[in-house]
Amino acid sequence: VKKSLVREFRKILGAQRCLDAPEDLYAYSHDCYARGKPELVLIPRTTQEVSAILRIAHREGVPVTPRGGGSSLCGATTPIRGGIVLATNQMDKILEVSQEDRLAVVEPGVVTLRLHQAVEAVGLFYPPDPASYAMSLIGGNVATNAGGPRCLKYGVTRDYLLGLEVVLADGEVLQTGSRAVKDVTGYDLTRLFCGSEGTLGVITRITVRLIPKPETKRTILTSLRTVEEASQMVSRIIGAGILPTTLEFMDQAYLQTVEELMHLGLPVEAGAMLLIEVDGFEEAVERQAGIVERFCKEHGALDVAVARTPQESDQLWKGRRMGTVALMRAAKLMISHDATVPASSIPELVAHTHEVALQADLKVVIIGHAGDGNMHPIFLLDPSRQGEMERFDKASRELFRFTVEKGGTLSGEHGIGLEKNPYLHLQVNEIGMRTMRAIKKALDPKGILNPGKFV
Ligand SMILES: Cc1cc2nc3c(=O)[nH]c(=O)nc-3n(C[C@H](O)[C@H](O)[C@H](O)COP(=O)(O)OP(=O)(O)OC[C@H]3O[C@@H](n4cnc5c(N)ncnc54)[C@H](O)[C@@H]3O)c2cc1C
Repeated sequence: VKKSLVREFRKILGAQRCLDAPEDLYAYSHDCYARGKPELVLIPRTTQEVSAILRIAHREGVPVTPRGGGSSLCGATTPIRGGIVLATNQMDKILEVSQEDRLAVVEPGVVTLRLHQAVEAVGLFYPPDPASYAMSLIGGNVATNAGGPRCLKYGVTRDYLLGLEVVLADGEVLQTGSRAVKDVTGYDLTRLFCGSEGTLGVITRITVRLIPKPETKRTILTSLRTVEEASQMVSRIIGAGILPTTLEFMDQAYLQTVEELMHLGLPVEAGAMLLIEVDGFEEAVERQAGIVERFCKEHGALDVAVARTPQESDQLWKGRRMGTVALMRAAKLMISHDATVPASSIPELVAHTHEVALQADLKVVIIGHAGDGNMHPIFLLDPSRQGEMERFDKASRELFRFTVEKGGTLSGEHGIGLEKNPYLHLQVNEIGMRTMRAIKKALDPKGILNPGKFV
């Protein structure tokens, strides 16, 4: 980024939002996976400013890495080719919440939790709930098609998108979709940008669909002797016509490691633990929770607890929510995969992951969203150990291969980023890669948007 360009950007944004001091560059150099080195950080507040930035970057061929909350777990927002980090966090207005049309229009820098709170205050509900909702931004969620625990019942971010405003690589402003719930006009450009990880355009406005807020919920925590029993329990619940909001899975290695760190009283002798949540109208929820509780008791669960108040529910969630934070502190390096398989392959995936980790002399614990087969093998690594990262890479490759062989996918929700780029070909064949490259070339012919990622 030449000095003359910095002056040009300062004219558009002012000095406060055009940063090149080393400490600022450092602060914007990393996400939750990797670190790069930007030359300039630009913080626009309007679509016009984003457009002006991209017009200049396009003219000069300068790389631009869009950034939301920086919570990517796969290096999606790590700037690896220098250039500009375009931070969207000050485009943070909730522009409209319409009860009548059940939709919200927001800028990309709105923290996900703020959107949840704003719509719930008027009796509406925006279901996608990545566990990072207190730090991730809605633009980042759209760019990664974020999922979360509630997605079993409600679907992922893309299921709630009605339309987008996107600034293209050359600065032109594209509008996609509409305010209508049903819309089949032309190619589905909204979905094309959803999950594109900042490689096709900068999202500057988002219209999301909302649904009525469920009246109540129940949380049930149960521990089972084996992973197979947990898997059977999942099938039994869904087979009974119950679609829980949440069906979280924790394996024995996770329970033991977290218990050692936090002393929460987790059942370390259990092979697996399931955290199940049902929501809806009071009568239906009471009945569904009763059926789940009965299944657990009748089919050999080691224990079962049902929470009826938000406080009791928080207590049951503790082992799941606080556990991952404890693991982050305990390990020198924690890397969480998010391999996703058809639900029937979960026991095999869990067993194979432990086998691969054992062979590679690596420590792994597994949590996941059991209902949709989205597993998170969490590797607790020590890069200072001889050959640890090489063994980790080899183990990862094997797990990705296995996942695809089972009809699954490299990523259920975290995305590709830097982490899974080397493995993309395991799932996407040459024709698929060619198609993706053609899309990239059409929308970003100079390859300035988040270069080095995806294609
Ligand atoms: C503790 C923790 C728990 C997590 N749990 C979950 C989970 O349950 N489910 C889940 O899906 N993910 C989870 N994640 C991963 C991460 O939070 C999600 O991928 C999230 O959607 C990223 O949002 P962000 O705003 O932080 O985006 P960033 O990390 O800043 O960026 C992510 C990608 O989006 C692009 N991008 C960001 N904003 C824009 C924009 N306006 N226009 C175009 N591109 C843009 C970036 O270039 C990058 O490619 C978790 C992460 C952490 C740290």
